[in-house]
Amino acid sequence: MEDVSDYDVYVIGGGPAGSSAAWYLADQGINVALIDRGKPIGSKNVSGGVLWGHDLKVLDEEWWKKAPIERAIISKKIGLLTEDKAMLFDWDFEEWGHEPYVGFSILRAKFDRWLAKRAQEAGADIYEGIAVDKLWIEKGEVKGIVQAGDKFKSKAVIVADGANSRILINSGLLTKPFSQNDFYLGIKEVLTLPEETIEERFGLNSEEGTAFEFILGGLPKNIVAGGFLYTNKRSLSLGVVVDLDTLPLGIHSYDVFEYYKQHPKIKRLIKDAKEEEYAAHFVPKGGLHMMPPLFGNGYVVVGDAAALCFSNGLVINGNGPAIRSGIEAAKVVSEAIKIGDTSSKFLSKYATSLKSTYVLENLIRFKNVEKFKDNPRIYSTYTPFILNFSEKLLREENKPREHLVKLLKQELKEAGINSIKAAIDLSGVRYL
Ligand SMILES: Cc1cc2nc3c(=O)[nH]c(=O)nc-3n(C[C@H](O)[C@H](O)[C@H](O)COP(=O)(O)OP(=O)(O)OC[C@H]3O[C@@H](n4cnc5c(N)ncnc54)[C@H](O)[C@@H]3O)c2cc1C
Repeated sequence: MEDVSDYDVYVIGGGPAGSSAAWYLADQGINVALIDRGKPIGSKNVSGGVLWGHDLKVLDEEWWKKAPIERAIISKKIGLLTEDKAMLFDWDFEEWGHEPYVGFSILRAKFDRWLAKRAQEAGADIYEGIAVDKLWIEKGEVKGIVQAGDKFKSKAVIVADGANSRILINSGLLTKPFSQNDFYLGIKEVLTLPEETIEERFGLNSEEGTAFEFILGGLPKNIVAGGFLYTNKRSLSLGVVVDLDTLPLGIHSYDVFEYYKQHPKIKRLIKDAKEEEYAAHFVPKGGLHMMPPLFGNGYVVVGDAAALCFSNGLVINGNGPAIRSGIEAAKVVSEAIKIGDTSSKFLSKYATSLKSTYVLENLIRFKNVEKFKDNPRIYSTYTPFILNFSEKLLREENKPREHLVKLLKQELKEAGINSIKAAIDLSGVRYL
């Protein structure tokens, strides 16, 4: 790595987690280098596209006025889709359209570049287009990083290289190896549309945005998948998140994406939009069961690398937790550098402080939700049942009560739902 001298801290990865950490450290006067394999930073990064919350306020009280945000999310729609049917719960919140706002659609390439630039302006050195191999470890202590076989010394390292962290794997720091079962695969397209068309089609004023999330039912048996659509200024972010473990032989994740895109409801929403960008990326299912050690002698792990992404089946919130964990880690690392103690014992303060934030709190509180949200019957049995029954119900609203009861029984039978199975399947609902 040319021109790289030793630093107090190396941050590996310039996604939301790494850049926030580097920004905070630089603000504290720490000699920090932010290294990312992408050139420019963010160019290969993927996210559905909503940044919820205001974790960045610690770094800049009015960050959203300066960041390249697309639209303020003012409405949320959660729905069920089967092959030719759709059902949507639609919420509009006037107050979401005003300061301080609740969430923004973002395009990661632009947003990540801006965040890294802010770290740089605060004093961090940025190295782009450089992939770090692993951590330099001696006698159980992290001494720095290894890049293209060369060793670079530092007092501490922040690992922020995202889902399925190669840095942790290559450094032998996982107590339990990651498995395919720990991740969803996210596929996303950015589709361009004129600003006025977006506003007219989705009923939005200028600067306002909306977020759709769908449970995809009616796919070949047992496939667990969800779809999303977010409005940007002049484009739509459209994608699916698929549990790879549930894909039968011969069906690929892009087939699921195609199924989603071809749904009449989605087709109408994306009519005439032109494909600009296509990307695929792992999404950690998130949760305590797959979480690597968050700290050790001389290092801490943040963001998706630490599986801090929160997903409860209806939302994926990984950008906020990435930023928050980056900042919490940087607070502890900065203190550690100042007092000259980067031992595992001192850095354990990072895990303690994360526990008092929503990041770990949510993962702990919703730890049993997996059982519910990854139950294939939600997708292949209940979603089609709800849509088929409600379609008949709405169509037959003038029929007497006995007829409706008969109809319900008949639909339940056809869907293969009985009270015992339903009680077991729905027991996870109380965790939602
Ligand atoms: C399809 C999809 C939809 C999503 N939707 C949403 C959403 O709507 N809202 C939300 O909040 N979250 C969403 N997420 C999750 C969110 O994108 C992640 O949780 C978030 O990006 C995590 O940030 P991070 O900084 O930890 O990791 P990343 O954003 O993955 O950043 C990791 C960085 O490390 C760099 N890197 C990797 N390896 C190396 C190396 N060896 N050396 C140097 N650099 C390296 C990469 O180039 C990258 O810049 C979605 C994810 C996907 C895939």
